[in-house]
Amino acid sequence: MAEARADGRLALTILGGWLGAGKTTWLRHRIQAGAPALVLVNEAAGVPVDDALLRPAPVVLPPGCACCAGRAGLIAALRALADRRSRGEALPPLILETSGLADPAAILAAIAADPVAVRHCRVTETVVLVDALHGAAELARGALAGAQIRAASRLILTKTDAADPAATARLAATLAALNPAAGLSAAVAGVPVPLPDWRGAAPLPLSATHRPVAAATLPIPPGTDWAALSLWLSALIHLHGDRLVRIKGVVRTPAGRLLIQTVRHQIQPPEIIPEGQGQDDLLAVIGEGADAPALAASLARFLGRTGPDT
Ligand SMILES: [Zn+2]
Repeated sequence: MAEARADGRLALTILGGWLGAGKTTWLRHRIQAGAPALVLVNEAAGVPVDDALLRPAPVVLPPGCACCAGRAGLIAALRALADRRSRGEALPPLILETSGLADPAAILAAIAADPVAVRHCRVTETVVLVDALHGAAELARGALAGAQIRAASRLILTKTDAADPAATARLAATLAALNPAAGLSAAVAGVPVPLPDWRGAAPLPLSATHRPVAAATLPIPPGTDWAALSLWLSALIHLHGDRLVRIKGVVRTPAGRLLIQTVRHQIQPPEIIPEGQGQDDLLAVIGEGADAPALAASLARFLGRTGPDT
């Protein structure tokens, strides 16, 4: 770790990977193994942080994915840490645990674009965990898993003990094909384990399916937590941004009526609008294959998911 701070800046590791890929487990093990770290957590809204283990206490970023909607919160947190360090506080290396929806490349770009953050922090490693059980399905489902894998400097296959070795070998060959420059290893419950021999295994075929553009109207259950809804929107955009044309609608929140608009991958800052404009708690979703029942089911699943990422 000492060499990671050789240039005087705070070392920052970005920890990425799909929801459920095992980021928290991997991080706990790394910290239990004695590597000091200050953890920045960018979790799903409302999920309590288990900070009993984490010393110093983690920095919890405001809701919203740090690579897009929550970018400003990440930069503000890094600037605050830079301030603490400038005032003489000794800080251990930083680890940013991403929400699972994040594209690490977008986080790197956000840090690089902020003159204060880049002067005080250096991203030393981008570790992306890939679940050996579900990684192939994640890759087939959308562009995000592939983007996460391509952004990694180190790829770690997790849960390989529970996966078929031949399937793990094909997944490993796929990761190597997507990002030949990254280190590739495996871990179970945070402990490094050998990878099955994957050289010679055939990478998985990766193809996107494209469907006609449709418009769907999605009712938002009244009283839906805005932070959770914004996280779901981030997820939708990350998974399907290539196929989304736009989302527009009004959601009633305790702060007022919020106008929500997205265009392709961009979420515009929500605006409070007066009564009478548009209908409450409805989002129009326009995109390839947009399907109202599927969107409603996805939102309901997301709002019902309360367990921490393990
Ligand atoms: Zn994001």
